Amino acid sequence: MKRDLEVVRVFLKLVKINSETGNEKKVADFIIDYLKKIKIKAKQDKIGNVIAKTKGRGEPIILSAHMDTVSPGKNIKPIIKNSVIRSDGRTILGADDKAGVAGILLAVKNLRKQKNVRPLELIFTVQEEIGCVGARNLVFENLKSKRAVIIDSSSRCGFITCGAPYIQSFSGKVIGKMAHSRAPEEGVNSINCLAEFINMWKPGRISKYCVSNIGVVSGGRGGNVICDEINFVGEIRAIDKNIFKKQIGILEKKLKNSCKKFNAKYELKKMQEVVGYNYKKDSALVEMISKGIRKSGLKVAYEKRMGATDANVFCEKGIESLSIGYGREKCHSVKEKIKIADLVNIVRIIENIAIN
Ligand SMILES: [Zn+2]
Repeated sequence: MKRDLEVVRVFLKLVKINSETGNEKKVADFIIDYLKKIKIKAKQDKIGNVIAKTKGRGEPIILSAHMDTVSPGKNIKPIIKNSVIRSDGRTILGADDKAGVAGILLAVKNLRKQKNVRPLELIFTVQEEIGCVGARNLVFENLKSKRAVIIDSSSRCGFITCGAPYIQSFSGKVIGKMAHSRAPEEGVNSINCLAEFINMWKPGRISKYCVSNIGVVSGGRGGNVICDEINFVGEIRAIDKNIFKKQIGILEKKLKNSCKKFNAKYELKKMQEVVGYNYKKDSALVEMISKGIRKSGLKVAYEKRMGATDANVFCEKGIESLSIGYGREKCHSVKEKIKIADLVNIVRIIENIAIN
């Protein structure tokens, strides 16, 4: 019981430390200090990620969580009622991802007395919430592990996120021809052309695990001017790589055809692609994690999620990686909450994954 309550104590301390993205220093200090007390040396890399390694037996694995939170995340006042922890309603709680951080810290502390623990590489990243910036800046050459478990999914304890999407963000513009609105035949209205493209492409849900979106449209000079240039920003996300590639092709084709029809030109700029993953239930990584969950007395559930985490970045760098759930609810909102029982369970799950 005493052991179980320590995770709550550590979690409450962590959420009270302000760490909106870009300001993770104090959380990093807390982690380094906590690990030092249990005789694990941790250090920060150039961008601020905290990295620690422990010796052990068997295949090494990475355990990782992120230190930053979204806003409003300053002066968080956690409230415990009916064994549920939530904020006072003015801020987020920060269980995303401090429950992951607390889970890892407590697990490694408890594991000191265990036998057959794998060599562990603990990685606490910065700036996950703005595109996994910390993970992208890790020096991967310094890591031995071929597999990683990221503690950062918005699902219950026992859930394994076996699939996460490839994401292609893009920006573009349609270029028409300016003219006075009284003489529309003299111009090419780029807004009309973009409307045609959107109507043809139909952004939204393409299938269960494939979605597309146009999220920003900007441009125009005035109500009496035929719009010569309109900009747009959007994205495509899909868990299946082939479907993903196919949809990017469709986007380009529909844009090209619409512009041809209107006699307009276009530019399309693709940003850095986020690499997705899709593991089978019997893959070695999923089996290793399932075993740990079962040993903790919980039921294993498999899911695919349409959000990206640091796991996507580890995959891109050639490390088999996925994210697991720990029961946080309504994250990225002031209603965010987590049950104490889930905090206790995630510690057990991490411990059992780490034991060979
Ligand atoms: Zn997160």
